[in-house]
Amino acid sequence: SRVQLGFANLPDQMHRKAVKKGFNFTLMVVGESGLGKSTLINSLFQQDLYKDRELGSVTERINKTTEIEKRYIELDEKGVKLRLTVVDTPGFNDCINCQECWRPIEDYIDNTFEQYFKDECGLNRKNIIDHRVHCCLYFISPYGHGLRPIDVEFMRRLHGKVNIVPIIAKSDTLTSTEVRELKERVMGDLERHKIQIYRMPETDSDDDEETRVQESEIRACIPFAAIGSNCVVESGETGRRVRGRQYPWGVVEVENPRHCDFTKLRIFLLGTHMQDLKDITKELHYENYRAKYITERMT
Ligand code: GDP
Ligand code: MG
Repeated sequence: SRVQLGFANLPDQMHRKAVKKGFNFTLMVVGESGLGKSTLINSLFQQDLYKDRELGSVTERINKTTEIEKRYIELDEKGVKLRLTVVDTPGFNDCINCQECWRPIEDYIDNTFEQYFKDECGLNRKNIIDHRVHCCLYFISPYGHGLRPIDVEFMRRLHGKVNIVPIIAKSDTLTSTEVRELKERVMGDLERHKIQIYRMPETDSDDDEETRVQESEIRACIPFAAIGSNCVVESGETGRRVRGRQYPWGVVEVENPRHCDFTKLRIFLLGTHMQDLKDITKELHYENYRAKYITERMT
């Protein structure tokens, strides 16, 4: 039996017409290869999106620059449809001369805005296909001591264009203390470099107690410590079959909140904050682009 992903609760936030049409959401993943991006996406959406992908040969990898690769998933939960686009960016930071590996990603995001702007000005305004990226999961290496120059560079370039949500990759390779320390370092580095990651809106005093507790728990664990797995294993605690990673000394469970922040990340993305991520994309990032575009062309 499948775990409920959480988006069936979205209608509470929306009106009925939108519910009938379903939801579109575009999620981008960025980070150097090997940090578990594809595995986490598969874990989040309970799919195997990348099984048909082959690794390029070594020489190919060295010369490669960042690519953009799109996948589509249609999910249905209690009659609510979610059309999800996953934009992967293989090759980011893989090449030797990596100074500008953020550029193809920036160009891609600019192009989606430009396309939207042109469509909006065109004749068929009612049926625009929206390619704008609503959220960018940025994977931070668990092996470093905080943000590396490439992380800083990427986020500074892109934070005004997309909602960046930082992820501590492969957090099962760290002890609880190390996870806590790395999170603190990352938050400190973000502040020092004046990087504006996605900020959850202030808690609404109208919300019930349970919602407020959930929100403050999510807020407290950013950057999310993630673990992904493509396998189902037997839980050491409950004996149940769970998505997890089997080690000689035991099992780490992807969906166990004591093992990592995966469950909170999924609730955040697909439940509680999907609509806000879309709103901010539209009202802040796209509006900024649009204002700049118009100013540059009128003067
Ligand atoms: P990508 O290049 O970022 O898409 O990374 P992949 O998802 O292809 O994973 C690269 C390798 O890391 C694979 O061998 C995965 O099994 C492993 N991996 C993925 N997620 C995790 C994780 O959360 N923890 C650990 N320890 N290994 C992981
Ligand atoms: Mg991958």
